[in-house]
Amino acid sequence: MENPTPSYRATPDFAAWVRALPKAETHLHLEGATPLELLAAASGLTASPPRIPAFWHPDFRYTSFDQFEALYVSDVMPFYNTAQRYHDAAKAVLATCVAQGCRYVETSFHLPGLAFAGLDGPEVLAALRAAVPPGLHVRFFGGMCHNDYAAHHALINASLDWDGLDGLDLHGPEYLPMEPWTAAIWERARAAGKFTKAHAGEFMPASYVDWVLDHLKVTRIEHGVRSIESPALVQRLISEGITLDVCPISNLKLAVQGIPTMREHPIRRLFDAGVKVTISTDDPYFFGNRLEEEYFALHQDLAFTRTELVQVARNGIEVALLDPAEKKTILAELDTFR
Ligand SMILES: [Zn+2]
Repeated sequence: MENPTPSYRATPDFAAWVRALPKAETHLHLEGATPLELLAAASGLTASPPRIPAFWHPDFRYTSFDQFEALYVSDVMPFYNTAQRYHDAAKAVLATCVAQGCRYVETSFHLPGLAFAGLDGPEVLAALRAAVPPGLHVRFFGGMCHNDYAAHHALINASLDWDGLDGLDLHGPEYLPMEPWTAAIWERARAAGKFTKAHAGEFMPASYVDWVLDHLKVTRIEHGVRSIESPALVQRLISEGITLDVCPISNLKLAVQGIPTMREHPIRRLFDAGVKVTISTDDPYFFGNRLEEEYFALHQDLAFTRTELVQVARNGIEVALLDPAEKKTILAELDTFR
């Protein structure tokens, strides 16, 4: 259901323009996007409408990433105990993307979640793929934390051979030490035809983004907003063509350093410097946000013009894992927007 108190609203004219813009959502955690109705129904709560979580309020701020992660474990992960539930959630989440004018989505799920629920990876992927609506291009990523290999090495190794899996993402608490297995697995994943990305520069400083680029050799960083703290890194992102998949409302509600208000969000300075940025929702269940609102936020609080927002949308399509003909078709449509 829609958040009755969204962080951003727009005039009908601007809202219609944003909705029509062909957009990409390249940073979306499936579990963190679980629809409220599905969670309520699974808990046996059939009251309608479901109770609105406190964290949907625009003034809500998480006190720490640990608080956020604890809610992840208690509120959404227990839902994912059958392949059917992955399917049901993906179907609802992707329908929301389509309703907002999305053409391309990259969504991840927590790979060790399959082990907790005793589920088969290829079976879950088949269920997820069966949930993709016509006309939407979707890529599925397996996500894992810095310390997941010890308990889940067999699963992580096996996932490199799953045809239905498009790539890997590194997520979870950034402050956990990076272990040596990660670079080797990221390298092997690319050799197996998987796309690789990693979360960095959300809670850890710019030096950590440099480390991730040096060792994991990714070209897409999830968040990366603290890159702004290092002019040398900003130049590196530009010269090496690294894309930052930024989630402005997520950054605000998680109280990321340097972002006490949306007006101070570094996406304006990163964009102006020439860094390739995209915008996404990250975990809409936990932020009560919608992709369209991210565009409203940039327009209202960071003075992004329509032309600049077209460029942000274009960035999302340019980095999409689509074949050149599909990409060309969507980019040609974007050319008609001003
Ligand atoms: Zn994320």
